[in-house]
Amino acid sequence: MEIKDLPYKQREIQIARAASYKEEKMKKEERMTRETYYLTVLEAVRQRSTCDRGKAGAIIVKEGRIITTGYVGAPTGMPHCEDNGHLIEFHSPEPGFSPGLTKHCIRTVHAELNAILQAADFGISIRGATMYCTMFPCFECAKAIVNVGIKEIIAVHLYQTQQWGILLFREVGLPYRILNQEKLY
Ligand SMILES: [Zn+2]
Ligand SMILES: [Zn+2]
Repeated sequence: MEIKDLPYKQREIQIARAASYKEEKMKKEERMTRETYYLTVLEAVRQRSTCDRGKAGAIIVKEGRIITTGYVGAPTGMPHCEDNGHLIEFHSPEPGFSPGLTKHCIRTVHAELNAILQAADFGISIRGATMYCTMFPCFECAKAIVNVGIKEIIAVHLYQTQQWGILLFREVGLPYRILNQEKLY
């Protein structure tokens, strides 16, 4: 018997049941959005970092798929900061500032560069890809990002030297988004 053939009251009950079943089913099947998926993976990648002065991750996404990942770590074969301590150098935080204002650990390869190097290692083109990164890329990483042909940057947080990267991206017209204006380190 179809719903339309039932007495009025029963018909109402059946329709209500069908609606709540559909609602439940939709709730269960609701998918994580793509961006939440990327950001969740990015956070897991960040947790692998070995320098606690700046735990950061980066993932490169092309045509909707995560192609490579990178996190902050010493070059392969070298001891990590967490085992051998940091390697500190003084930097200028912003363009035009005198040097020596902020301390940086230079032992590590940055997450963004590591994600690019992973693509080089496996011979994958990342031209036209999008990079998600924990912090806004530093100047060195920003230069590599531009030359490798990455077309968009999504940074979760600001970074103490982000001004150099921002200047470069503006100059070459590479779009970027910063999701959270808070500096992480
Ligand atoms: Zn370190
Ligand atoms: Zn960097």
